[in-house]
Amino acid sequence: MQPSDAHVHVIATGGTISSHFDGADWTNLTGVELVDEVRPALPDDLRRSVTVTDVASGPSSNLSVGDMMRIAAHVCDAIDGGARGVVVLHGTDTLELSAFVAQLVLGVGPTRRPVVFTGSMRVHSHPLPDGLANLRDAILVAASDAAVGREVMVCLDGRIHSAEVVHKIDASSLDAFTSAPFDPIGHVGADGVHLAGPATQRPAFADLEDDVAFVSLTPGMDASSISAAIIGRRGAVVEGFGNLNEI
Ligand code: ASP
Repeated sequence: MQPSDAHVHVIATGGTISSHFDGADWTNLTGVELVDEVRPALPDDLRRSVTVTDVASGPSSNLSVGDMMRIAAHVCDAIDGGARGVVVLHGTDTLELSAFVAQLVLGVGPTRRPVVFTGSMRVHSHPLPDGLANLRDAILVAASDAAVGREVMVCLDGRIHSAEVVHKIDASSLDAFTSAPFDPIGHVGADGVHLAGPATQRPAFADLEDDVAFVSLTPGMDASSISAAIIGRRGAVVEGFGNLNEI
């Protein structure tokens, strides 16, 4: 099957996009349910061919780095299975981390199929929800020939960001993500999918290590609290001050 004829595959991992309050109880919608709601808003070929796998549910703060590596493995499987592009539905709190792990695992090469992470800032039952529009946009980006060979992308509120630089800056805005100090790499809207500039090529890393501590130093922190975080781990990343000459 040629990429332009093949299906887009959606991998659902939970998050606010799937949260629904029916007036009495909170429930989690599946990826299958969310995609079925969005199908009527898709072009004919995509409406019929989008496929879905649910791999997790709940808040994204529950995900470990190992879980993020497993999500990346699902993305690889979908691409190996012939998907034209892949969308990952994800809670926004750790979406940038999962997207970056996927970028490390997949790399960026000229023919790599599009991979797009999205989520929502409002729950599904909100009077003005943003999730279904974000899902539709992400599917359109994943199906776009212009997105082949691009970085792993994050698409929310019509903006497309590279996983290499994107970060969440506002937990109360629909436009919660930024690429600052850079611009987003593109946008999606009524005029279609637009991506600027060539992507920077990156190798894929098959053997990522997830047993690594992250320690962010604070003024006055003593050595014992650093050791407690590091001992027994395979490695550590320590975030320090200035040019690190106090470490
Ligand atoms: N708490 C949610 C999560 O990250 C937030 C969201 O999805 O926007 O799962």
